[in-house]
Amino acid sequence: MDDVVIGVSGLVKNYPNNPAVCNVSFKVRRGEIFALLGPNGAGKTTIIKILEFVERPTSGFAYVLDSEQLYALTKDYTGIKEKIGALPQGFKGFDLLTVYENIDYFAQMYRKYGNVDRIIDEMGLRDKRNALFKHLSGGQKQRVGIAIALINDPEVVFLDEPTTGLDPKARRDVWDMIKGLKARGKTVLLTTHYMDEAHQLADRICVLNRGSIVTHGTPEDLINKYGGGNTLVVRGCSTGAIERLREALPGSLVSGNDVTVRLAYGDGMAAMAKAISVLGGDGHLCQELYVKKPTLEDVFLNLTGERLDDA
Ligand code: ADP
Repeated sequence: MDDVVIGVSGLVKNYPNNPAVCNVSFKVRRGEIFALLGPNGAGKTTIIKILEFVERPTSGFAYVLDSEQLYALTKDYTGIKEKIGALPQGFKGFDLLTVYENIDYFAQMYRKYGNVDRIIDEMGLRDKRNALFKHLSGGQKQRVGIAIALINDPEVVFLDEPTTGLDPKARRDVWDMIKGLKARGKTVLLTTHYMDEAHQLADRICVLNRGSIVTHGTPEDLINKYGGGNTLVVRGCSTGAIERLREALPGSLVSGNDVTVRLAYGDGMAAMAKAISVLGGDGHLCQELYVKKPTLEDVFLNLTGERLDDA
């Protein structure tokens, strides 16, 4: 694989009585956004912490930017640390320092760092430059965290759950910023338990559950392979409508007042036409009728038997 900047092979991390990461292998190419997607406890943070030099693996091989194994005792990793940036999970700045002071504090830790005011502008925080951290909104705080992750102009950026706890507008702002990192040629490894976030942002996804890889690939490939095809959904049906649909559409599943039918490839239009014809176009018989495409949530459900939200 060309220009691999992160490599993980047979990675294992055991906490006392707790196998957090079990034999995980993947590669990340330069310039791509790569997502570790999985529910809480899947091992995402542990993997990212190993790559950031925060945790040591129990066994296995990992490298970042340099094909020498991390944690080899003889090597000085200062050079690599200067080239990576990290947004930790649940980032918190100093409440009583301003936005400028928070970013400048971390900038001083590097031998070479960017212009703090420029990065404040890039993160859309100019009018908050002199505001105390504690007075910022959740989205603004997260942008300060991303600014800190970028202050050394890193080649690789680790973002651990970058939008957890944010409202929908702030999430979208952070997504735009992450897309901007890719446009600037950065390699991004992010973790998330939001399947829409992984789908929106990632070039490739590694799906994890209970410390192991479930599958990996591009979002489209995963959905095509494991999503289970389209589903016809008829919601809010009357009792009579449910009976008619069950007769007309073999394999229908009924849940409350909703009827769903798994569609074979290319069957969507025919099934929809059949449903409309048996309902006689009578708007009182059901409330909604549509074809639902599978998502990464369906991929996770089909491969693990668990829901991403509940697992
Ligand atoms: P995720 O980021 O996917 O939510 P984590 O990597 O944080 O998952 O955790 C994976 C597993 O390792 C979980 O069962 C968690 O409880 C456990 N774990 C994480 N950190 C520690 C630790 N410092 N000590 C013991 N167990 C831990």
